[in-house]
Amino acid sequence: MRHLAIIGSGPAGYYTAEAAQKQWGDDVRVDIFDRLPVPYGLIRTGVAPDHQSIKGVSNRYEKTALSDNVRFVGNISVGQDVTVDELQGLYDAVIFATGAPNDRPLAIPGEELGNVFGSAAFVGWYNGHPNFATLDPDLSGRHAVIVGMGNVALDVARILSKTEAEFAGSDIVSHALDLLKRSKLETITILGRRGPHQIAMTPKELGELGKLENACPRVNPADLPPEDDDAVLEPGQRKSVGHLRSFAAIPESERGQFGKEVNFHFFGVPERIIGNGRIEALEVSRTALRDGKLVATGEVETIPCDLLVSCIGYRTSPIPGVPFDERAGRFANDEGRILPGLYCVGWARRGPTGTIGTNRPDGFSIIEKIAEDFDSGALGAARKDGRPGFDALAESRKLDIVTFRDWKKIEEAEERAAREGAPREKFVHIEEMIRARG
Ligand code: NAP
Repeated sequence: MRHLAIIGSGPAGYYTAEAAQKQWGDDVRVDIFDRLPVPYGLIRTGVAPDHQSIKGVSNRYEKTALSDNVRFVGNISVGQDVTVDELQGLYDAVIFATGAPNDRPLAIPGEELGNVFGSAAFVGWYNGHPNFATLDPDLSGRHAVIVGMGNVALDVARILSKTEAEFAGSDIVSHALDLLKRSKLETITILGRRGPHQIAMTPKELGELGKLENACPRVNPADLPPEDDDAVLEPGQRKSVGHLRSFAAIPESERGQFGKEVNFHFFGVPERIIGNGRIEALEVSRTALRDGKLVATGEVETIPCDLLVSCIGYRTSPIPGVPFDERAGRFANDEGRILPGLYCVGWARRGPTGTIGTNRPDGFSIIEKIAEDFDSGALGAARKDGRPGFDALAESRKLDIVTFRDWKKIEEAEERAAREGAPREKFVHIEEMIRARG
């Protein structure tokens, strides 16, 4: 019998468990640890609440979770409740699928001012992550700036722009919906340091901005390169740029009917956040692309800003004793191998790139590597104790494990508490989740 411990119950964790089942069938036992009492990581607290069809992928993970040889071990914090060394003593292979939960800092003066957030915190707030449930952003100002031109920036812009009716069918948490309903924001500026051809937004998601009930996207036609230049783009990017072109073509006469504007501000690098205790404005230096290289033009402008959300990427949480690549913000690894018996997968391996589906081949490839290491003897000949060993340790420490069956009770309680038309009302505090399992 092979014993695997996977740390993190998001997409990377469950795809890896699925791959282990395919590889070894009944000859493997997989324990999936999570520090939260609820599974699915990014699916629950990262994917936008109005993108329910993407969240549907958790049905696939549930199938894996319900099989006999995979077990969810919730409410256990690796590094606190149990050390990595202890897990390595109990399991043949320990795999970090811990994602990248921390914001990359903007690293500019004023970042510590009030109403300045990173996307991990802001997205966590509207998605009910227990760490950010009390964030309480102030939406009473007129101007928001979102830094970065990736899909997370789009998510945040869309959530800040939607009307209450547009959240029907979503699982946005009530504390966020209540604030958003009262939002006084008029302009939401998406600030990118490069140009329209360099955006990291995918076409489907960008297209959604053109269909909002009360917000209209704005692109300055002067920022767009000549249309013929789009020919060099790969098809997806060409489609995205096509959306920007259609936003630029919206006549001024049509804009009056919208209460909000989502403004694309290209070629601007944030330099300094200005404010007295709380953000009031953002100093931006103008850039240009010369021979593909980003250069500062020397022009500086100050734009009013009452709320800033930086969506510039994420970092993995380091774990003491586990080699970490500080520059890249993820575990130091060679195709997922960290040290003998220690592996990483998903964003913890490759950084915050790709879609949910990218994690599937990632999971299968790490299991191939682990199979090679079993075969070569790199993992030692003697098998470890696995589950029974961990259960004895948990018992001796009186650890309060939340099982998958417990999660199903929490899930039912969340479904019962849902607003009309919503799939669930998430518990946003760990104690509430634990209480709901009965
Ligand atoms: P991302 O796609 O890497 O975009 C990050 C953006 O931040 C880029 O525009 C980048 O500009 C900019 N940036 C980085 N450092 C900066 C700095 N110091 N100052 C100013 N701008 C800076 O990251 P993401 O939006 O966080 O998304 C992470 C991953 O999740 C992506 O693969 C994304 O596609 C995926 N995702 C998918 C969906 C979906 O499919 N619906 C939703 C959300 C996220 P440069 O290009 O100039 O570096």
